[in-house]
Amino acid sequence: MTETVRTRIAPSPTGDPHIGNMYVALVNWAFARQSGGRFIVRIEDTDRARFVEGAERMFLEALAWLCLTHDEGPDVGGPAGPYRQSERLAIYREHAERLLASGRAYRCFCAAERLAELRKSQKGEVTGYDRRCRAIDPADAARRAAAGQPHTVRLAVPPEGQTRFTDGLRGEIVIENRSIDDQVLIKSDGYPTYHMAVVVDDRLMGVTHVVRAEEWIVSTPKHILLYEALGWQPPLYYHLPLIRNPDRSKLSKRRNPTNVLWYRQEGFLPEAVVNYLGLLGHSMPDQREVFTLDEFRAEFSWRRVNTTGPVFDMDKFEWLNGMWIRRLPVDELAARLRSEGFVPEGFPQDRLLGAVRLLQERLKRLKEFADAAAYFAARLPYEAALLVPDKKGKPLKAAAEVRAAVAELRSVLACAAEWNAAALEAGARALAERLGWKPADLFTVLRVAVTGRRVSTPLFETMEVLGREECLARVEEAGTRTGTLP
Ligand code: GLU
Repeated sequence: MTETVRTRIAPSPTGDPHIGNMYVALVNWAFARQSGGRFIVRIEDTDRARFVEGAERMFLEALAWLCLTHDEGPDVGGPAGPYRQSERLAIYREHAERLLASGRAYRCFCAAERLAELRKSQKGEVTGYDRRCRAIDPADAARRAAAGQPHTVRLAVPPEGQTRFTDGLRGEIVIENRSIDDQVLIKSDGYPTYHMAVVVDDRLMGVTHVVRAEEWIVSTPKHILLYEALGWQPPLYYHLPLIRNPDRSKLSKRRNPTNVLWYRQEGFLPEAVVNYLGLLGHSMPDQREVFTLDEFRAEFSWRRVNTTGPVFDMDKFEWLNGMWIRRLPVDELAARLRSEGFVPEGFPQDRLLGAVRLLQERLKRLKEFADAAAYFAARLPYEAALLVPDKKGKPLKAAAEVRAAVAELRSVLACAAEWNAAALEAGARALAERLGWKPADLFTVLRVAVTGRRVSTPLFETMEVLGREECLARVEEAGTRTGTLP
């Protein structure tokens, strides 16, 4: 029987949930789900200085929003918990003791000032700790520690030889041991470093595939050495390329928003977000660009992961979001707009579906709905826009003519036998002919009267949604306004 695949996403709760991290989560999720395995969330909160209250909750919210469900984690529990590193301190200490006992780690009493001096003096040369405390007799070191002398625990890296591992995406990677620092494993505050905690946890949580961002490649040799020192078999490693800005720098919020919840607030659909992330880092067998999370899961393959840093492209992302908005059934889109808070309070319920149907084609973000649909909810001011301008912005018609036209429009609408788009358009065309107006000019006057805007959803469909009573009231009000036109 083969071992069950277990993957994990291990966010540090130091800020907003980063979109790059969601990409890593997506791949971990897809691979676990495809293999019938389990996907774990582990919170790496050992850096107390950078800890941000609420970051864990936001991360879990982002995962849930994208439907990247996890089987084990701080919120749902599981057999390998606890899933927050700050709740596992005794476990790391116990393993550090094991390493000290076997001589694979040692206590270091060097003060921060000495280490800073050392770093300063090393500019341009080989950097790293000079291993001074490695020479201290372990019994002596244990006595000093017991007496309360502050210290760290460092990994005793073999001075010679090489450390190697195979990256599932990049092949074999070999590092000379002499270039690896004697990594701190336990800090003087008793907390483990990332390196210590990640190795112990990946092992104890049974993680079979460590799938993470490329920036961690440089740390992997240290992790391999730690596995060796603890007498453990390391997991398999896959380092995913970082998502980049167009200038190839690492995706940063100076160029593009990186908080995935920002995309939610803007009205990106979760379907579009996972689709875009899947598209960035991976190609589908048929080069398909629009696909569901489930399709991604089914087609995901390590062979098709791009190892060159994909470039984040907001225009493409928006385009894809528009595609997903158009793919939703109208009632579902309306429900989403409502549940995500994009329908302004007091929006008339009986016009919502109609407005959504007419705007669906135009929205790239759900957030645009409130403004785009404003005239479905309430009357907007007409201003002088009723005076249809020519190309140079001068009125095409005199105010008196517009006044007369609005009055005629009112009676045509009041007497319309049927209230539907085709009948309304036919009536307005007939009136334009009778008045000797170009239909487009008359339609603009009507459009401004009804919507308060010169550009809107298709006029007669919009009027159908608004209904006779509301349209008549608006045209009447516009009629009183034309009295004040210059
Ligand atoms: N805590 C690390 C992060 O924030 C996890 C790195 C890893 O996956 O090993 O990305």
